[in-house]
Formats: sequence, structure tokens, C-alpha cells
Amino acid sequence: MSDPNHPNENFQKSKETRVKGRYRYYKNRKKRQKDQMEQIALERVDILFKRALRIHKEDSTLADHYVDLARRVCMVARLRLPSRWRVLVCRQCKKLIIPGVNCHVRLQPRSGKGSRVVKTCSNCGHITRYNLRKTRDEGGN
Ligand SMILES: [Zn+2]
Repeated sequence: MSDPNHPNENFQKSKETRVKGRYRYYKNRKKRQKDQMEQIALERVDILFKRALRIHKEDSTLADHYVDLARRVCMVARLRLPSRWRVLVCRQCKKLIIPGVNCHVRLQPRSGKGSRVVKTCSNCGHITRYNLRKTRDEGGN
């Protein structure tokens, strides 16, 4: 009774582990491909934003076009814009805003809560507010 069953069970078990192993390999490969895609996208976003900042004085429409391209690259790769570039894009008109050139920046002191940064876009008049961290040494970004 045990003779015909045992080899069958063993066979099935080995098959299952083989399938699982293959699935894991496939999953890892997919993850690696995703990581590569993210890296390439971030590199391209960096290049586009650097070019936009360089050319903004001479041709602001071209700079805005570069920002649009960078946003699309992030959208396709399913990434958020890196925070160092996100602060340079207006949340309403999605154009490049540079403090002192294209937007006003004010600091609003609040008692006991740390101060707040208020940015006003001069293209569309949109106001963005965000809080400053109390301790700069702790926050890495
Ligand atoms: Zn704006």
C-alpha cells in the first residue's frame, strides 16, 4: 500500500519546489528589471532638470518643456519626482519656478511650531505652503 504512493508523493513534491524556484527566479528578474528602469528614469530626470535650469534664462518655454518631459518620464516609470526637483515645479501650472526669478518666497514664523515657507508662483499666482523641520541635522533630505 505504501509502495505505489511514496514515489508519487516524492515526485509531486519535487515538481512543486521546482515550480516555486522558477517563480522566485522570475520574480527576482522582474524586480531587477524594475530597479534598472527606476535608475535610468532618475538619471534622465536629473539631466532634464539640469538642462532646464541652465537654459531658463534664455528660453523659459524650452525649460518648461524639459520639466514636462521629466514629469512624464517619472509617470511612465511610476515614480515620484525626487524632492529636490519637486520644489522647483509649480503644483498648479506645472512650470519651472526658481526663487528670486519666477516666484516669491516668504517665511512665516509660527510660535512654537517652527516656521512655514510660502511660495507664490508668478506665472499663475498659486500659493504653496510647507513647514520647515525644527532640527535640520536629523532630517536627511
Ligand atoms: Zn504656477
